[in-house]
Amino acid sequence: MKIDYRFFNALEMNSSSLPVGGLRWLNPTYEYPVQLFIFKGYEAIDYAAAYGSGATTGYGPNYFDFDLYQRLIPAPVVLWQPDVAKTRSAPPHYTEHISGWAPGFTDVVDHSALPRELLKPSEIMEWLLDEMQRIKLRPHRYDLLFIDPSRLIQLGYQLSRLAGREFPINSTPFAAALCMIGLGSAYFFRREKICPNCFRIANPELGRCNLHSQSKYVRADSRSRALNSQAARTGRRVKSIIKWPENIPNGPLPDISPLESRTAGMLWPLRGQQHIEWNQLISEALKDAPLVCKLLPQNFLVLSNKKQLELLRTVLDENEWQIGRWPLKIVAAQKWFEYEQIVAPGPKNSGFSEVNAERLMKACALRDLGWKPKEIAKQLGISDSHLSQLWRRQRIRDRADS
Ligand SMILES: [Zn+2]
Repeated sequence: MKIDYRFFNALEMNSSSLPVGGLRWLNPTYEYPVQLFIFKGYEAIDYAAAYGSGATTGYGPNYFDFDLYQRLIPAPVVLWQPDVAKTRSAPPHYTEHISGWAPGFTDVVDHSALPRELLKPSEIMEWLLDEMQRIKLRPHRYDLLFIDPSRLIQLGYQLSRLAGREFPINSTPFAAALCMIGLGSAYFFRREKICPNCFRIANPELGRCNLHSQSKYVRADSRSRALNSQAARTGRRVKSIIKWPENIPNGPLPDISPLESRTAGMLWPLRGQQHIEWNQLISEALKDAPLVCKLLPQNFLVLSNKKQLELLRTVLDENEWQIGRWPLKIVAAQKWFEYEQIVAPGPKNSGFSEVNAERLMKACALRDLGWKPKEIAKQLGISDSHLSQLWRRQRIRDRADS
C-alpha cells in the first residue's frame, strides 16, 4: 500500500501535535513579544553579514566589503539598511555601539499581520508552521526544527532569502523566517562554556557537551546514558591528571566567541583566499595530530569548506561554530585524546568486555525506547539474568563514580 504522506503532514500541522520539547530554551508558559524575535533575527543576520564582510574591527568603511555584505543579507540593501545603502560603509553597530532598532526596520511586519502581539512558544511554533506551509516548504525540511537552534538559524536564513525574493519585505513569510533566526539566536546568545569533562563546547542548555550529558534532551540518535557517564568519568580523570585546560601547550581555548562570528560560521563556509589560508593552518595543526587525522578522511584538505566543517563538527565538537577556532581545537583535541588513551586504554578498562559493553549500550538504547527487559534480552540473544547482571554492574560502577 502506498502511504499518502500528505495526510501525515496535515496531521502534524495540528497544534495538538506540536513538537514536544520544542524551543525548550524559552519558558513555555511565558508570552513573548514576537516582534522582538523578528528583530533579533534581523539583527543576527545583519551582524553576521557585517562580520563576514570584514567590518569586525569596527573602524569604518575601509574594512568593509560592501558588495559581499549586499550578497549576504537576504533583502535589497536599500530596504534592509537604508543608511548603509547610502554611505556604503559598515552598519552603525560596527562603528558606534548604537543599540535599539535599526533605521527603517522598526516594524518588519505590521502587528495586525501576526496572530497576536504576545505569544507563548507553542503559539510561535504554530504560527511558523503555518507560514512554512504557506510557502509550500516540504515538511522534511523542518523535521525536528524546533529542537535544534542552529537549524532554526540555518533554515530561517535560507527562507529569508527565498521570502526576500518572492514576498515583500513586510510580508509574514519574511517576518517568520527572521523570527526563526531570532529564536535560534536567543539560544546562542548565552555565554559560551567549555564542557567540564572535556575540550568540547558545552551545550548551553545542559552545561556539558552532548557526549557527556545525561539529559533526556540529548538527541535520540546519540549514545546511551550509560556510555555518557562512562565517558564523563574518563573525562574527569584526564582533567585531573593534566590539570586541564591550564596545561594545554598552546594555552586554553578562547572562552568566548562573539555571537556574530558563530552565526556567520553557521551560514557561510570560507571561500577563496580565506579558505586557502585556513587550510594552511589546519594542515599544520593536523601534522602533529595523528589521532585526529585518524578520524578524518585522507582527502580532508581538498574537500569543500562546507564538507570540512561538517566533518570536524561530527568527529570533534558538534557545538563549535566558529571556523577560526578549528586549528587550535585540533591541537587541543590531539592532546586530549593522547591522555584519554593513557587513562582509558580500550574497553577492557571499563570493566566490561567489548561484547558486553556493546550489549549494554544497545540494552540502554532499547530501554529508553520503552522496551521491556524480557524483550531486550530476547533481542540481544542473552538470558534475562545476564541482562540484569549487566545492569547491576553498571549501577555499581555509576555509584562508585558519583
Ligand atoms: Zn564533554
